[in-house]
Amino acid sequence: MVELISADVLIVGSGLAGLRAAIEAARRSKGKLEIAVLTKVHAMRSHSVAYAGGTGAALYLDEGDSYDLHAWDTVKGAAWLADQDAVELFVRLAPQEVMQLEHWGMPWSRRPDGKIAQRKFGGHSFPRACFAADKTGLYAMQTLYDTALKYDNIKFYHEYFVTSILLENNEFRGLTAIELKTGNFYVFKGKAGILATGGAGRLYPFTTYSHSSTADGMAMAYRAGLPLKDMEFFQFHPTGLVPSGILISEAARGEGGYLINKEGERFMKKYAPERMELAPRDVVSKAEMTEILEGRGFKGPGGLDYVLLDLRHLGEDRIDERLPHIRELAIRFAGVDPVEEPIPVRPVAHYSMGGVHTNKYGATPAKGLWAAGEVACVSLHGANRLGTNSSSDCLVYGMLTGRQAADYALNTSLKDVPMERVEAEEKRIFDRMLKGSTGENPYHIRTEMQRTMGDYVYVFRNEEGLKTAIKKLKELRERFGEGHVADKSREYNINLVHVLELDAMLEIAYVTAMAALNRTETRGAHTRTDYPKRDDENWLKHTMIYRGADGEPKFDYLPVVITKWPPQERKY
Ligand SMILES: Cc1cc2nc3c(=O)[nH]c(=O)nc-3n(C[C@H](O)[C@H](O)[C@H](O)COP(=O)(O)OP(=O)(O)OC[C@H]3O[C@@H](n4cnc5c(N)ncnc54)[C@H](O)[C@@H]3O)c2cc1C
Repeated sequence: MVELISADVLIVGSGLAGLRAAIEAARRSKGKLEIAVLTKVHAMRSHSVAYAGGTGAALYLDEGDSYDLHAWDTVKGAAWLADQDAVELFVRLAPQEVMQLEHWGMPWSRRPDGKIAQRKFGGHSFPRACFAADKTGLYAMQTLYDTALKYDNIKFYHEYFVTSILLENNEFRGLTAIELKTGNFYVFKGKAGILATGGAGRLYPFTTYSHSSTADGMAMAYRAGLPLKDMEFFQFHPTGLVPSGILISEAARGEGGYLINKEGERFMKKYAPERMELAPRDVVSKAEMTEILEGRGFKGPGGLDYVLLDLRHLGEDRIDERLPHIRELAIRFAGVDPVEEPIPVRPVAHYSMGGVHTNKYGATPAKGLWAAGEVACVSLHGANRLGTNSSSDCLVYGMLTGRQAADYALNTSLKDVPMERVEAEEKRIFDRMLKGSTGENPYHIRTEMQRTMGDYVYVFRNEEGLKTAIKKLKELRERFGEGHVADKSREYNINLVHVLELDAMLEIAYVTAMAALNRTETRGAHTRTDYPKRDDENWLKHTMIYRGADGEPKFDYLPVVITKWPPQERKY
């Protein structure tokens, strides 16, 4: 049986972007709109709580920073694939968002003069990362969640798993969702929708992401007929802790940490003589992999060969003051105290530059539907995101989309949802997936999918490897069938959740590999060893990916918006 809930604005996801959007929509509507926030985990378990290093914004214009400098760093970091009009908007709004959080009670770390402190981060030519020790995300999420709870017209639906977006005549109508506690199936009707479901890091075996970062939102949008953009660009962060993949935040290098190889050499001097360890992530990750592949790394467990991150010269006091969480993580998960020993690290899956296509204000091509945060591709980050720009992106675009969705909902009436699609979705999940038993053990399939992505769609890529990956991913989709759920109960069926997540990941892994094969150049995080040069003549354009009637991705392209900064050689 399908149950019905109506609200004015439906927000999927309660990370930084979703919470910021909810507050803005509630504030904007002055109590006149009901805002529903649906989240498959409890709001405070969203991946955003794990962000550590900082939030980027040009705060001190009188001390030498400027919006143009922040925009220039972002565009160069993005290997010129970012849309510069969006970047210009973003850098102006980011400082307002940092101050907004401050006013809501965010405990930013301070300078001796009492102002918000900022530290260095890769690719930024000015210390621009606002932080709260190395637990920035936890504090930012607490600040936003506390603020959201003060609004009576925001209602949280914790542990509701959204399964599809309902569009009619290219207009947003609502969502379908499962309440995990009861297993009941709901249709949520809404005037406006905001997708804020985060990134797709669980496509990879070695990843910094939460278990819940499984690409659901991207797959839902794609299946509803919306285009995905630039999916070939996935960021590998240079310092994933071996063997767990837990992130050692870039704050460690921002505070002065070095990278060294087996010969004890600070190898970054060969790859980025000026910026060294604080070059952008794509540059540092490629350097690490080159060192490892050329035999100057250390042998790691299960093929996870690594280099070392050395913090010893910072001293115990500074490490405890600025990097306490990193010290704790290294001791607990690698048995290494960074005060005494360097930390084993290697490139780790960390950020989806690609996502649901939006315009520079976060609107998707469907009327009444916006996307914000990591699920969206505006594009601000182009081929490579700079550290700290994601949390500010979530705040800025949460605010922008919340405001637009509220304005739209205030002037629209609630319309019917396409019930035949709701019924089809109910049958797919409850009759075929849950009751049926087609397809193999999903956990085996998930492991094979992740291994395939880690082996062939990682830092270095080439035609042969990508074709192997595509063939394998196709085979896995066939073996998945309609999804095999062994646990047949309705209440808290986590097995069903895993199968729904895998269904989304198989779709998005395939799109990622296909887009990577399609782009025959090297740009930012997408390195094709068989096409080692950036090719602006043919490839200074966004990839747009539509799902064809046969389920196969269809490619189209969009020009990159260049305002002030024409493409140049990228040197660090
Ligand atoms: C370990 C780590 C450290 C990072 N450090 C930094 C940093 O220092 N600075 C920085 O700027 N960025 C950093 N990032 C990146 C940044 O944290 C993320 O890009 C950002 O937090 C994403 O926020 P979000 O709001 O888009 O989504 P998330 O916080 O990922 O939240 C996604 C939400 O969507 C919900 N959801 C997903 N699917 C469904 C579904 N099917 N149904 C219902 N709900 C669903 C989830 O429940 C969750 O609430 C880091 C990322 C990681 C992983």
